[in-house]
Order: sequence, then structure tokens, then C-alpha cells
Amino acid sequence: MLRNFAFGFGFDIHPLVEGRKLKIGGVEIPSSVGPLGHSDGDALLHALTDAMLSASGFPDIGTLFPDNDPAYKDIDSTLLLEKTLSLLKEKGYRVYQVDLTLILDKPKISPYYEKIKANLSGLLNLPMGKIGLKARTSEGLLFPPEKPAIIAFSLVVLEENF
Ligand code: MG
Repeated sequence: MLRNFAFGFGFDIHPLVEGRKLKIGGVEIPSSVGPLGHSDGDALLHALTDAMLSASGFPDIGTLFPDNDPAYKDIDSTLLLEKTLSLLKEKGYRVYQVDLTLILDKPKISPYYEKIKANLSGLLNLPMGKIGLKARTSEGLLFPPEKPAIIAFSLVVLEENF
């Protein structure tokens, strides 16, 4: 049978401030700063979730999970991803491949690539080889030192009628 694929792109950005935990892809990373946000501020999971919703014709993450809804205050973004996965499943989609890119000046994320990918592999039920993940610094060009931030980009490929 011919396989049908659907593609989605996601983006997210959060300021990084003192007193917040830094969670990336559901994994807590040691850091003096963490994302300011209504939920836990996991930019990688937000970009990923948004790409999945986009690829499958659903409204975006901010529409489905509004940041003025107390139900989503400080929520673990893993739960938003899991809700999204069940929406996709109902429509006959499964995640086939994801490619993820982060931009942040610190901390260094590469020591955590395997841990983050393993966590995503479990959440998405996807082999590690179908998950791309890399982080880059902005070379000091995007964020002033007193205003650090994290940016996440996500490309998702879904298989239809699975
Ligand atoms: Mg976000």
C-alpha cells in the first residue's frame, strides 16, 4: 500500500529567568535559569506538539491549550504532548519522524542529547534513529546577556491512515 505522509513545522521561544527549572524534551537539565511560561515552558515539546497539530489539521497549541486557562498552569508539557498524540491517533495518524533544533547560549545541551532522545523515543513510540536533535548557540547574536532565551524548531513527519 502506498504510504501517505503529512508534514508539520513548529517554533517556540521562551525567556530564561532565574528560579525556574529548565526542562527540554521532558528532561530536566541543570541550569541557573529556566523558561518563563504558563506551563513548565518546555520549548522543545511545545514546538514538537505544534508541528504535530499543524501536520494533522488541528488548531495550534495556544488555541487547544490556552495559557489563560488555569488547568494548564505549570502543567508538565509531556501531558500536552500525550493529549496531542491521542488526538492524532483518533484521526489515523502516527508520528513517523521528527527533527528538532534548539538555539540557546547556555547551558550546553549536547551532553543531554541521548537522554532527551530516549525520553522522546518513549513518549512518541519512535526509534531513536527517527529522532534528530541538535542545539546551537546564537554566537551571542540573538540574546543580550541579561535577557537569555531558548528557541526551538521542529519538523514532524506523520504517517496517515496508519
Ligand atoms: Mg511555549
